[in-house]
Amino acid sequence: MEKFDCVVVGAGPAGLSAALTLGRARRKVAVLDNGRNRNRVTQESHGFLTRDNIKPQEFKDIAIKDLEPYPSVSISNETVQEITKDTETNLFLVTSDNKTYLTEKILLATGVQEEFSLAQIRQYYGKSLYSCPYCDGWELRDQPLAIVAENEDHLLHMTKLVFNWSKDLIVFTNGHQISDNTRNTFEGKKIQVYTDMIKSLHGENGNLESIELESGEAIPRNGGFVIPSFYRPNKFAEQLNCEADENGGIITDGFGRTTVNGVYIAGETEKVGPSSLMIAAADGFKAATGINMDLTLERF
Ligand SMILES: Cc1cc2nc3c(=O)[nH]c(=O)nc-3n(C[C@H](O)[C@H](O)[C@H](O)COP(=O)(O)OP(=O)(O)OC[C@H]3O[C@@H](n4cnc5c(N)ncnc54)[C@H](O)[C@@H]3O)c2cc1C
Repeated sequence: MEKFDCVVVGAGPAGLSAALTLGRARRKVAVLDNGRNRNRVTQESHGFLTRDNIKPQEFKDIAIKDLEPYPSVSISNETVQEITKDTETNLFLVTSDNKTYLTEKILLATGVQEEFSLAQIRQYYGKSLYSCPYCDGWELRDQPLAIVAENEDHLLHMTKLVFNWSKDLIVFTNGHQISDNTRNTFEGKKIQVYTDMIKSLHGENGNLESIELESGEAIPRNGGFVIPSFYRPNKFAEQLNCEADENGGIITDGFGRTTVNGVYIAGETEKVGPSSLMIAAADGFKAATGINMDLTLERF
């Protein structure tokens, strides 16, 4: 079986940036990806220097094209199902839906996915409801916005942040009570608070028009910000025995190295937030230098 220096699982900015750096370092790399990058639902990405306002697919296409000059890098559309380590050889076997790869190093760059307590948010997510004001606050500036969140600390944090982009805010807690202190803080800024359960979101083609409460009252809003829960879409790191911290984040040394020799991690799968293509790409670069340095020292 053909042996790789590194298999990169995930072709988001973290995985693709790592692949570019490893390709330029003349390493033999296979990038495996199943096209579920987190920002695929949005129309435009913002804030990546030189690529402001770019469509996520175009961003990915350019990054993949950048790999073309490096013949030792391949990329294919596959879902990785299992990764195991042979403790005798210290090599990894990466099994996807149609192939098995043998590799010295493995980089997990599989990102995270969102979960919403209100399932209907999904229809508006990336079109008029977002989770990152730095990514999409500018486009929603000065508009009548909703902040939808259930945890009081998250709610307060997000509302203070978004107030910078629009003063026309209404807070929806979907049935969760908030302290008098927080309510007073909001009222001091003329921000209305609805603690009623949300019955339904209304709008067309993902463009929010109003939020209907259980009482039947519909409050007009053009868009806004929500706070999802994030989860890793697989347990590869745990299955490979990588140690996690008390919050479930995989422990690394800052250069992608996990506590298991040969296993590296980069991008949001390492730590969520702030959501940023730029940070994920930088993480991928750093992990690639960690991988390349280890290969160099092992072989020199
Ligand atoms: C609605 C929305 C808007 C956003 N807007 C912006 C913005 O404007 N600016 C900005 O900087 N950031 C934005 N972000 C955040 C940005 O998308 C993330 O920070 C970034 O994508 C994280 O990169 P990553 O490489 O860690 O993960 P991802 O980009 O999520 O890539 C992970 C990849 O791993 C692959 N994968 C997962 N499991 C497997 C498997 N088992 N086998 C094979 N492949 C697998 C997935 O298919 C995916 O392609 C936005 C996010 C969302 C949701």
